[in-house]
Parts: sequence; C-alpha cells; structure tokens
Amino acid sequence: MQAPGLDGRPAPDYVTAMARAPHADRFAEVESWVFDLDNTLYPPEARLFDLIDARMTGWIMAALDVGEAEAGRLRRHWWESHGTTLAGLMAEHAIDPWAFLHHVHDVPLDRLAPDPVLAARIAALPGRRIVYTNGSAPWARRVLAARGLAAAFDAVYGVEDAGFRPKPERAAFETVFARGGVDPARAAMFEDDARNLIAPWEMGMRTVHVAPAPAAAPHVQHHAADLAAFLAGLAPVAA
Ligand SMILES: [Mg+2]
Repeated sequence: MQAPGLDGRPAPDYVTAMARAPHADRFAEVESWVFDLDNTLYPPEARLFDLIDARMTGWIMAALDVGEAEAGRLRRHWWESHGTTLAGLMAEHAIDPWAFLHHVHDVPLDRLAPDPVLAARIAALPGRRIVYTNGSAPWARRVLAARGLAAAFDAVYGVEDAGFRPKPERAAFETVFARGGVDPARAAMFEDDARNLIAPWEMGMRTVHVAPAPAAAPHVQHHAADLAAFLAGLAPVAA
C-alpha cells in the first residue's frame, strides 16, 4: 500500500519513484526525525527571529547597562565561546534563564501562517517526529500552533530539557536524545544553523541543512532549500 497523497488518494507509482530519488535510501533506516524550530519549521523570510534578536539585545542593554553596540559585541562573543546568548549570560552573569526566555519570546506571531503541506509531509514520516530547539518548549509549542504543525509532532524539547546547555554542545544533544529515546544511528537532524549539525553528524545521524543556500562541510550531508519539498522525497515509504 502506498502512502496517501496530500488529497488522501494514493500517489501514482511514477510520482512516488521520482519523488524518492535521489536521497530517500539514505533515510530508509531512520526512525526518529528531529527538527530544529526557528528558521527551520518556519521560513527565514518571515523574519520572526529578528524580533527575538531585538529583544535579546534590549534585555542585555537593560540588565548589564550597556549600549547597543556593546550588547551586540557581547552576543557575538557568547555565540562563539558559549554557543548562545543565553548560555553566555548564564556562564558570565548567572542570570535566571526563565526571566530571559520569557522576555525574548514575548513577540507576536502574526508573521507566521499555517503550512498544511509541510504538516502533512512531516506527519507522513515513518517513526517519531521531534522538535528540539535552543528556545524553550513553551515557545516551540506557540510557534507550532501558529504554523499548524503541532499535531505532526510526538514530542517537543527546549533548551531547558538539557539543563539550559545549548546546541551545538554535544552533551546537550545527548541529554535530549536520552530523554526522547532517540538512537542517533537511526535518526535524522534538520537544522538551519550548520554549526548545530556537527555533533549530530559525529553521533551518526543523517544531517540536513535547511537553508536558502547550501553550506559545504563534511557534517552537512544534505541540503534542503525547501523543507516540504525535501520531505516529499522521503515520505512515500509506507508499505
Ligand atoms: Mg534555528
């Protein structure tokens, strides 16, 4: 039996065969599908993360009594040395992570629209579908609801689920995957930040860089400019 098409009818054989080429076989063993959230499950053109960026910078300016340029410099420093702004603030200023997360995620979601095609293609993936974000799980649930993707996922993990250690740290992935029962050898990671694919690649996952332009690196195994189109090549494997 074939997986149904988006209208509920089986896709013709030739469509299935064409859609699966050329990368489907690389994913035949995958039983856990792990997706980043921001700029992965919504398009970067929505520029939603610009709002969060501005609130992060504003929070630093107020909390540390610095100007915008210094806040920007600190954020770049923390990104390089600690992985994220939050991790840098926690390491160097012992801040309350929830106070920071609540502030930066207090943004409207009217830039997001439901994406029923993407929802159907994620839901058609065989196995468990998981969101893992460096934001919080409550933030992820809000975004998934706005995108109409909530029902497509079995579990949602945020930075709090790794004790606020962020991607790209391998220990963060290991903590979340242990919680979620993800076997990296049978899992795939979808991410817009290529740096966050290094640890998954080292752990044996299939890696997919979801971004407008490809990044040439050994840890980037696949590139998806259009996530829904890429998944269309993976879904019709139900027997
Ligand atoms: Mg992202």
